[in-house]
Amino acid sequence: MLIGSEKVVLIHYTLTDDSGQVLDSSSGRDPLAYLHGKGNIIPGLEKALEGKQAGDKLNVAVQPVEGYGERDERLVQDVPREAFENVDEVNPGMQFQAQNEQGQARIVTVTKVADDLITIDANHPLAGANLNFDVEVTEVREPTAEELEHGHVHGPGGHNH
Ligand code: ZN
Repeated sequence: MLIGSEKVVLIHYTLTDDSGQVLDSSSGRDPLAYLHGKGNIIPGLEKALEGKQAGDKLNVAVQPVEGYGERDERLVQDVPREAFENVDEVNPGMQFQAQNEQGQARIVTVTKVADDLITIDANHPLAGANLNFDVEVTEVREPTAEELEHGHVHGPGGHNH
């Protein structure tokens, strides 16, 4: 079965940056399960998997525009220390969940701590990065009616709810 719209696809993958450092890998876990054509995974990877089948191995280089987007410096902001009043100690590298005006949750990373001012970065940690995926397709199957309705895959490597 070939990968195409609304097929359930299971892949093992290793993600590295341009220096060869491993950023993420499914090694030692269940393969990642996603519903093709539904935006479950980044566009560059989804596009490269189109037409592939179980057993296929591929290397995919994804530019930021088809990955997690370019960095947006407007998402770097200074906020007063009081905004973190329920946190004992704030250090660079810490991550918090915040909500934007649309009510969407996003992860912000503390990048700098001055006396009364804390600099946070709401860019995705992989924004602006070139992504290199080493992928093996392990299974391609039809979705269940429920998976189609939810727009994602259920079971190992997918959603559990
Ligand atoms: Zn579901």
